Amino acid sequence: MRNRTRSDSLVFFGASGDLAYKKIFPALLAMARRGKLDFPVIGMGRSGWTRDQLVERARASVTEYGGFDAKAFATLESRLKYLDGDYNDVQTFEQLRAILAQCDSTRPAHYLAIPPSVFPGVIEKLHVASCTREGARVIVEKPFGRDLESARSLNDTLHRAFPEDHIFRIDHYLGKEAVQNMLYFRFANAFLEPIWNRHYVSKVVITMAENFGVKGRGKFYEEAGVVRDVIQNHLLQIVSYLAMEAPAGTYADAIRDEQIKVLRNIRPIKPEDLVLGQFSGYRKEPGVDPASRVPTFAALRLFVDSWRWEGVPFIVRAGKALEATQTEVVVELRHAPPVVFSEDTPERSNYIRFRLAPNVAIGIGARAKRGGDEMVGAPIELSVVEEGVQGAEGRLGDYERLLGDAMEGDATLFARQDIVETAWSIVEPILGSDNPVHEYEPGSVGPTEADRITAG
Ligand code: NDP
Repeated sequence: MRNRTRSDSLVFFGASGDLAYKKIFPALLAMARRGKLDFPVIGMGRSGWTRDQLVERARASVTEYGGFDAKAFATLESRLKYLDGDYNDVQTFEQLRAILAQCDSTRPAHYLAIPPSVFPGVIEKLHVASCTREGARVIVEKPFGRDLESARSLNDTLHRAFPEDHIFRIDHYLGKEAVQNMLYFRFANAFLEPIWNRHYVSKVVITMAENFGVKGRGKFYEEAGVVRDVIQNHLLQIVSYLAMEAPAGTYADAIRDEQIKVLRNIRPIKPEDLVLGQFSGYRKEPGVDPASRVPTFAALRLFVDSWRWEGVPFIVRAGKALEATQTEVVVELRHAPPVVFSEDTPERSNYIRFRLAPNVAIGIGARAKRGGDEMVGAPIELSVVEEGVQGAEGRLGDYERLLGDAMEGDATLFARQDIVETAWSIVEPILGSDNPVHEYEPGSVGPTEADRITAG
């Protein structure tokens, strides 16, 4: 169902937090710069702050992360309100309802930029205090649960207060320009369709590598691990974008209906299709159990049991403290038959590459004849898109795009309940896996045991 009435205020819980500082204020400033910040923004906190302190915090945030712009900041400042209170006390929410009434807001969007343990209490009190009536929406930060059971329980809590099409579960990865371009490139070009299947694709390799460790967030990481942190959400979403059939349009459910079909067709993961790793030194990080088995690296081989993809491995690798920071997808095509030119071809000769980070690129791998008498070739990469920076001039930042879409009621880039729960059921066997956790050196490509997965 489409739900495109615009929200008429933004209430954001966690105004004093890290995410607000790094992402939300800069996104609001960017909206102000584009003339899109025409609604009241009510920051919620529990730190005993005043509104002036919130304004100063917003100023510091945009100076550090957004680039200060006096005119846009004046708009942001004029829209900002602040309510301080205890999230366990229903009176805080009654005060919020009064502020919404003063602003003539009947369709607030409540954004929960707070730790997940606090979500259920806040949702329930919003409901008890009648802040969820009419066209109210809720925007929920990741992580959405820590396994299938907790995700279902959170969904039940949300559904007691909001209908599904008023719930916006953020996976900020989907807001990224490069991920959008991947979807666009697939379905705006007819030439890909004949080769986008098991007859031409030999394997798909999705890699998300980071050259840094847990950056002092050991306690958080002990709760998450690589599977919860990036595979259950970002990387499975990418698998679904790559493997899905053409949607009937670009509206939210058209795309999400195709994504869910892919996820439902993923075969249960067997132990031999999984290699786990942990970088040497992880156990000495502050907040980490000295005997921790939490994986900081995983390589898995997935199969999508569909007519199009039967037998094609989708190899998903992600890890911390690796040699480089890079996220990319390589769709490898089968070799040309070595009949005409009998030279040895490298392992990857024809492929489509989507580089998602740190730079954005789409490239096509091919072979071309080298100059000279001999019929000998060399690999080349045809560049389709080659951009240095994400968030360049004129470009929507990921949080600006997501917040703007949620305010408009466009749920395309947000995870639907069935998608979240199916993604949890795919990774559940990995979360409880008895597979060994192999140690690897920081700055390497991960444990060598993963090579057999990468081989396809
Ligand atoms: P913080 O730890 O900075 O906390 C955010 C806010 O929640 C703060 O305003 C804090 O208030 C409040 N808070 C903390 N604990 C409690 C509690 N027990 N009861 C009530 N309020 C509480 O978190 P982040 O800003 O880092 O993250 C917020 C959400 O965004 C989380 O769901 C996180 O997973 C998600 N997220 C964060 C990212 C990031 O880069 N930070 C990236 C992607 C998602 P006070 O200041 O008073 O303690």
